[in-house]
Amino acid sequence: MGSILLGASELRALTRSPEKPMVLILLGPPGAGKGTHATPLSLSLDLPHISTGDLFRAQIQSNSSLGQKAKFYIDQGSLVPDDLVLDMLFDRLKAQDCAQGCILDGFPRTLAQAKALDLRLENKSQILALNFHVPDSILIDRIAGRLVCRDCKKSYHKLFDPPATADLCGECGGRLYTRDDDQASIVSKRLEVYREETMPLIDYYAAQNDVLKEVDGQGAKEQVFQDVLNALPSFAKAISSQ
Ligand code: ADP
Ligand code: ADP
Ligand code: ZN
Repeated sequence: MGSILLGASELRALTRSPEKPMVLILLGPPGAGKGTHATPLSLSLDLPHISTGDLFRAQIQSNSSLGQKAKFYIDQGSLVPDDLVLDMLFDRLKAQDCAQGCILDGFPRTLAQAKALDLRLENKSQILALNFHVPDSILIDRIAGRLVCRDCKKSYHKLFDPPATADLCGECGGRLYTRDDDQASIVSKRLEVYREETMPLIDYYAAQNDVLKEVDGQGAKEQVFQDVLNALPSFAKAISSQ
């Protein structure tokens, strides 16, 4: 496959339709690299990056009643019930910065969530789903070494993407920490939950015309990001031909 190098403004023009805001869904198992690629994609496409995991962790940090409820499920590696997720996400989607579309990271994770999103968007947005394929053995190594910035939420890796200064974020100087749910015993449960509840979404989106693109997420970060960019213009063509 030839490599397509596009500048940010070209990408924006290719992927943005004034009639149909783009809702770009990053699908894939825990540790696949969704958050890692969401940040540069958000800059390139000028769309907000919305991670339901980050939204829940912010609620937990502020000790809100939603945070307390969500923590119970997150700590055991289960999914937070759909109604709590949907209320929180749909509230976020009301914000003005989502008017041109958004990048969803970690949502939807169940068929019920995907169907609720379809209803909510009422066919007025173009859903595009990028599915990151990464084998379990790699996921386990990635999650075992993941470090996250407390402030800007950027992910690092102890071995694959270490910060220049130990324990500090190179972007914002925030402290890096290991997520409680990234410990091995919980990760195996999360992978099982992914297989049972989230994997069916691949077939759900594959059954719709021009919605799903597969990305091989195994390679180096830069290679995977290039594959992501290469996938986007073909989506853009699909949007403009509708
Ligand atoms: P997700 O959001 O899908 O759960 P992350 O983006 O947080 O995954 O990535 C999980 C971990 O793997 C992080 O520590 C990140 O630095 C690392 N990582 C992401 N992509 C790659 C890659 N292509 N090669 C090696 N490590 C990666
Ligand atoms: P990862 O990408 O590593 O799986 P996330 O940060 O996306 O991690 O999610 C962390 C946890 O937050 C999940 O294990 C789950 O408990 C909860 N969560 C996040 N998004 C959703 C969602 N869409 N539906 C249900 N639970 C969610
Ligand atoms: Zn930071």
